[in-house]
Amino acid sequence: MTPSGPLLLAGGGHSHALLLKRWAMNPQLRPKRGVVLVNRHPTALYSGMVPGLIAGIYRRDELSLNLPHLCDRAGVAFVQAEVLGVDSQRQHLLLQERPSLRFGLLSLDVGAETRNADDLAGVPIKPLETALQFLSQQDPHDPEPFRIVGAGPAGIEVALALRRRWPNRALELQARTGQLNATTRAILHRAEIQCVTDPIDQPTLLCTGSRAPSWLADSGFAVDHDGRVLTNPFLQLEGYPHLFASGDCAVMESQPRPASGVWAVRSALPLAKNLEAACNGQRLKRWKPQRHALQLVGTGNNTAWMQRGRARTQAFTLLWTLKQQIDRAFMAGFSQESSMVAAQPMACRGCAAKLPAAPLTAALLQAGLQGQAEDAANLGGTPALLQSVDGFPALVSDPWLNGRLTSLHACSDLWACGAKVTSAMAVITLPASHPTEQQELLHQTLAGVQSVLVEQGASLIGGHTLESRSSTPSPTTLGLQVALSVNGQSSAPWAKGGIQPGDALLLSRPLGVGVIFAAAMAGVAKPKDVEATLRTMNQSQHHLVAALQKHGADIHACTDVTGFGLLGHLGEMLQGSKSITIQLWTDRIPAHPGAMDLLAQGLASSLAPANRDAWSWLEGPVQLNQSPSQACLELLVDPQTCGPLIVACTATAAESLTAQDSAWIQVGTAGSGHG
Ligand SMILES: Cc1cc2nc3c(=O)[nH]c(=O)nc-3n(C[C@H](O)[C@H](O)[C@H](O)COP(=O)(O)OP(=O)(O)OC[C@H]3O[C@@H](n4cnc5c(N)ncnc54)[C@H](O)[C@@H]3O)c2cc1C
Repeated sequence: MTPSGPLLLAGGGHSHALLLKRWAMNPQLRPKRGVVLVNRHPTALYSGMVPGLIAGIYRRDELSLNLPHLCDRAGVAFVQAEVLGVDSQRQHLLLQERPSLRFGLLSLDVGAETRNADDLAGVPIKPLETALQFLSQQDPHDPEPFRIVGAGPAGIEVALALRRRWPNRALELQARTGQLNATTRAILHRAEIQCVTDPIDQPTLLCTGSRAPSWLADSGFAVDHDGRVLTNPFLQLEGYPHLFASGDCAVMESQPRPASGVWAVRSALPLAKNLEAACNGQRLKRWKPQRHALQLVGTGNNTAWMQRGRARTQAFTLLWTLKQQIDRAFMAGFSQESSMVAAQPMACRGCAAKLPAAPLTAALLQAGLQGQAEDAANLGGTPALLQSVDGFPALVSDPWLNGRLTSLHACSDLWACGAKVTSAMAVITLPASHPTEQQELLHQTLAGVQSVLVEQGASLIGGHTLESRSSTPSPTTLGLQVALSVNGQSSAPWAKGGIQPGDALLLSRPLGVGVIFAAAMAGVAKPKDVEATLRTMNQSQHHLVAALQKHGADIHACTDVTGFGLLGHLGEMLQGSKSITIQLWTDRIPAHPGAMDLLAQGLASSLAPANRDAWSWLEGPVQLNQSPSQACLELLVDPQTCGPLIVACTATAAESLTAQDSAWIQVGTAGSGHG
C-alpha cells in the first residue's frame, strides 16, 4: 500500500543532490506529494573536489551545492535544521529546537562522521565545514609541524593537499606501524611529509576513518560495526519498507561497498527510481552495484593516480587533468539552468508582495478612507489597546520558519508603537492538497507563529483557516498565506510623526532583505548571505521596545521599515512631523551581507520600481551626507520583511542606545526648516 504523507529527504548528500537535479530536469518524475529536504547547512560540498579546495586549487563556491536553490528548481521544500533522530513508529523526523516533521516516506543521506573523534585530541575532518574553518585558522609559517592523524585514503590526500597549501610548513602524517606501502611512502617522502607513529598531545586534524551518526542506531535501526544502517538491495532499511538510505550513512547488507562519494553518487539513480516507485505504489527494483568503482586520487602536485579495489597506477598529469574535468563537469551539471525547468516568474514574496503605495493610497481615497496614519490602531483605554494586522504569501518553503517570520513581521507594527504584544489571531490559507498534508502544514505554521508569541509572553487566541482556490505551487508549502491580527498594550504609544529638530535617527538592523530574496529566487544570492539575513530576520525585536521605553519622553517618533523601504517609511514619519529636514548618513546605513553587491549588479525586488517614487523625498526634506552610489539609492527603497525599527530620539537617548553591544546604529539627524 502506498503510504500517505510527505516524502522527507534527510541530508543533502550526494545521492539526494542528484535526486533533486533529476526532478529539476524532469518535473514529471517528482512524486505527486509534498517533498521536503532537511539539511543542517544551505550548502553541501562535493567531496571529489574537497582535497583541491584544501590545496587552494578550487574556491569553495566551485564545489558548493546551493541546496535551497536546487530545491526551488526541483519543486521541493527546504528546511535548514539539525536532524536528531527518527521516531519510526510515529513516522516523525526529530529536529533540534523545532517541531519534528511527519513523513510518509523517509530517505536518509546524512553522510558520516569521523571515527574515534570523541576519544582523540584534534579536530575531525568530518563535518568538513568545521575542519575547513580549523585549517583556515592555521599559520602557514608556524615553525611547529602540523599533524594529520590517520593514513587512510582521506588522510593521505589531505596531507598532500596541505603540502600544496603550505609549502613551508612541516607536515606529519601519523600512521599505524606498517600501514603504508612503499609507493605511498615514496610519494609522501617526495612531498616532504614525515610519516610518524607516536601520538602527540597537540591540536591535529583527525582523518581516522568514518562512521555513521550514532542517532541512527539510537533510533532503533539495525547497523553495522560503523553504525551504518543496513539496507536491502532496494535501498530500504531492513524491516522498514517506507524508509530508504544511501551514501556513507548506509550499507547494503548483501553487497557492502566502502563509504565513499563514488558509491553515494552511484546509488543516486536506483534510489531515485525506487523512491518514485514507492510513492506511486509500483514495484521496486533491486540495485546490483559493481564490485569495484574506479577512483582518481590527486597528489596535490598536478598529478593523480587511478585505483580500482586494491590495484592502482602510478601518478600521472593526464589523470589529474581527467579528474579535474570529471569533477568540474559534475558541478556544472547542477548549474545548467537552461536544461532545468524555467524559473517561476520573479514576483517577490514576503512583504515585497505588498501593493505599491500609489494604487493603495488612491483606492483608500476612493473608498473614503484616509489610510492608517499609525502602525497600529489605538482602540483607547488605559493602558491603550493597540491593534494591527499584517501578512503575506509564504516567503520561504519551510512552513515553521514562514510562520515565525510572518508573526515577527506582524508584531513589529506594535513594537513600533512601543506596545507589548499580548495576543494574536491568525487567518491561514492552505494550498489545496491532501488533508494529511494540510494538517501537517497547519501544525508547522501554527507552531512557528506560537513560538514568536510565547517568547514575548503573548498567545494565539483564535483564527480561521481557508483552502486556496488558486493553483497549487511546487513546493506546496509556497502556497501558504498567513495573516495575523495582533493586539497589544502601551501606556504611552509612540507615533510615526513627532520628529523634533536635533533628533538622532536610529536603525535597529540592516536593510537589504528585498534584494537578497529576489537574488535567492534567481539563484544568484550566496547561500551564506541568505542564511545570515534569515538569522537576523528570525530574531525577535520585542526586547528593544522595553529598552527604548526606559528613555521615556526622549523617544519622539518610531516606525518599522517594511514594504516601502527606508525612504518610503521615513516619508511617512516626515508627513506627521512639523518643519523637519533629515540628513541621512548614507555611509552609516547598514546592509545585510551581499546586499550592496547585488544592488550594484542591478538586482532588485519586484516592488522596488514602485518604491522608487520615494526618491522624490531627496529633492525635498531628506538630504544625504554624501553623493550616493546607485546601489545606495536602491537600498533606500528596498522593501523589507522583518525589517528594522527606526526611531527619532534626543541625542542623549541616542548616545545611550548606541552604546557598545547595542543593535542600534545612528543613521542620521533631524533639523528644522521644511515647511
Ligand atoms: C578529505 C576527504 C576527501 C574525500 N575525497 C573523496 C573523493 O575524492 N572521492 C570520493 O568518492 N569520496 C571522497 N571522500 C569521501 C566522501 O566525502 C564521502 O564518502 C561522501 O561525501 C559521502 O557522501 P554522502 O552523500 O553519504 O554524504 P555527505 O556528502 O557527507 O553529505 C551529507 C549531508 O548531510 C548533512 N547532514 C549530516 N548530518 C546531518 C544532520 N544531523 N542534520 C542535518 N543534516 C545533516 C551534511 O551537512 C551534508 O550536507 C572524501 C572524504 C574526505 C574526508
